[in-house]
Amino acid sequence: MRPEAVEAMLPFMTEVFANPSGSHRFARQARKSIDEARDVIAEAIGCKPGEIVFTGCGTESDNTAITGVIRRSPGVAVCSATEHHAVLHCVEHANGVVVRTNHLGTIDLEALQAALSPEVTSVSVMAVNNETGVITDLVAVSKLVRRYAPQAMLHTDAVQAACWLDLRTIWPLVDTMALSAHKFGGPKGVGILVVREGKFFEPIVLGGGQERDRRSGTHNVGGIVAAAEALRITDIERSSEVARIGALRDKLFAGLLAIEGAHRTIPAETSVPGVVHVCLQGIESESLLYLLDEADVCASAASACASGAMEPSHVLAAMGLTPDLTMGALRLSLGHTTTVEDIDRAIVAITDAVTRIRAVQNRRSL
Ligand code: PLP
Repeated sequence: MRPEAVEAMLPFMTEVFANPSGSHRFARQARKSIDEARDVIAEAIGCKPGEIVFTGCGTESDNTAITGVIRRSPGVAVCSATEHHAVLHCVEHANGVVVRTNHLGTIDLEALQAALSPEVTSVSVMAVNNETGVITDLVAVSKLVRRYAPQAMLHTDAVQAACWLDLRTIWPLVDTMALSAHKFGGPKGVGILVVREGKFFEPIVLGGGQERDRRSGTHNVGGIVAAAEALRITDIERSSEVARIGALRDKLFAGLLAIEGAHRTIPAETSVPGVVHVCLQGIESESLLYLLDEADVCASAASACASGAMEPSHVLAAMGLTPDLTMGALRLSLGHTTTVEDIDRAIVAITDAVTRIRAVQNRRSL
């Protein structure tokens, strides 16, 4: 978490502990803090404060935007094949249409157009992919959806976008947008769903009617305040961080691509600076991650699932990458705490680990 977000959260775990739904003085104080946080977040998104719905996580925001819309307006749900499972599983559950992606990892626009019709009520295309970092051309997606599925609510999962793209450029293109605080230096367990005024969904969490009946449940006041502070700073620092981390990303890629058999998955021009994705031919990710863990380099292969076990990447499979490449997938994330020393250490550790694995492979094949 960003230290400023921790500091903003602390009073709500000690002296300001009231439930904002109450009517007494302390409750009003907590409610005021939520209102202020809502204003700050709206400013960073370029939306109206009333368009923000606080949820429990990015997953819940995605679920609400898809399942909640389909319940309210029954019809066909559409998404791209490389969506996070928080979207993909909802669309599959609704027997929807999963549109193929191209070899660069973005939705195939011709296939999207073919899937759209007046029967489609929900379309979901992510702003930035969590595994590869590839950025979607949402302008093109939005044009197609408005033209060929005019009834549809267009949702974007912007969970991975907040640190790198100005959300004010994304919000005008869509009807709903999902964010998750822990991706921009806020706490885990705070999600944001932005819903355009005049657009409706069936709430999926029912109860006390908080968030103007759109999401029930006692507010996580400290978490919401901390999320607002984290997003405020992320927004202010974004352009300098994109430049700083972009340079670190380029340095990391240069180091990794010097390794024999290393392939860059997505070109720099179409990806965010925070994700470095390579495939190391002939290397098994699992052995690599084991050695990297020992060297204090925290990396991943596909996406982490609840069991902590590695699952084959549906994203790389959808891009048509061959198994000899996908078995050696390596994903590294960079963020506001990443330094040039981290990059130097990572390059040495990864090069060393690959050399060790190849030495063992060579000995076995003798
Ligand atoms: N969408 C994307 C693109 C993500 O990367 C993640 C989490 O990694 C989620 C949704 C889910 O967010 P949360 O972990 O807050 O449920």
